[in-house]
Amino acid sequence: MRALVTGGAGFIGSHLVDRLVARGDDVTVADNLSSGVLDFIQGHIDSGAVTFHNIDLKDLDSVIPVMEGVDMVYHLAANPDIRLGTRITDTDLKEGTIVTYNVLEAMRLSGVGKIAFASSSVVYGEDAPMPTPENHGPCLPISLYGASKQAGEGLIGSWVGTFGLQAWIFRFANIIGERGTHGVIFDFIHKLRADPNRLEVLGNGLQEKSYMEVGDCVDAILLVVSKTDAPINLYNLGSSDTCSVRNIAAIVIRETGCTGASIDYTGGDRGWAGDIPKAMLAINRLQDLGFRVNYDSEEAVAHTTRVLIEEIMG
Ligand code: NAD
Repeated sequence: MRALVTGGAGFIGSHLVDRLVARGDDVTVADNLSSGVLDFIQGHIDSGAVTFHNIDLKDLDSVIPVMEGVDMVYHLAANPDIRLGTRITDTDLKEGTIVTYNVLEAMRLSGVGKIAFASSSVVYGEDAPMPTPENHGPCLPISLYGASKQAGEGLIGSWVGTFGLQAWIFRFANIIGERGTHGVIFDFIHKLRADPNRLEVLGNGLQEKSYMEVGDCVDAILLVVSKTDAPINLYNLGSSDTCSVRNIAAIVIRETGCTGASIDYTGGDRGWAGDIPKAMLAINRLQDLGFRVNYDSEEAVAHTTRVLIEEIMG
């Protein structure tokens, strides 16, 4: 099986590459290293298990050649920073919607028939019931990033309906773990490193979301792809509980040993405009395939805190 992983030098993508290489797939990675880190996959490049293309997926002409001989595309490339949309309004349009169009069009032109897409729980918007099932609708995202994920899902649906593509769409909860390069735990560790006596927390800390460990996420992707075969297979990926930002702050303070740190809340019910304060996905559909997470939300937070402290502080 020849797999193309877009965004394969990124946080989740590099873990997916590890698993695909381990099971013997022939893996190609397309990544412009805008937020990815070549070191994450350098070992596989050196061993010859991975072919790496440093290309910008916004350029369709660059995407077409990397599709040659590919059986399945795992499309993970995107801007990872949801907050950026509050300041720059065309990043998600270009790095999300246009990039997904280019990937699909290059697949069509090259005859590649299968795609797995990294979508997000944020497509559900903020008035969704909790836990949110896959069939909730209408989906009305409140961030520009969420809009680009919804647009990506729509484009994929149209390629399935019009050109006979087969697709797996994964709506991720918050994915955390080793090699994390962004997100609340990463931010808290960096803040405490800069000032061990004070931790600024965006919002009132009562935001509460599901967290899934990255190994669990990648295992779930591969399991769903292996066990389902509809034209479009839509799955929430997450854990079946939540962890509050206050709890995360307490765990990071404990694990960093900065126990004298005061916590300053910036106030309000959310971290930034477009943030969704409370989110939890229904994962029955995933569990019905026999999948169980290794880490619940709080365990994933504690584990991630420990590995990121190692990575960041050495
Ligand atoms: P990441 O930033 O580590 O990975 C994204 C990768 O895409 C990076 O390696 C980056 O260099 C690459 N990339 C971005 N724009 C590109 C372009 N124009 N051309 C080529 N490469 C490009 O982020 P991640 O957390 O690993 O996220 C992976 C995917 O999962 C993304 O689509 C993200 O939106 C989605 N997702 C992540 C989470 C999460 O909690 N981490 C939650 C929901 C969805």
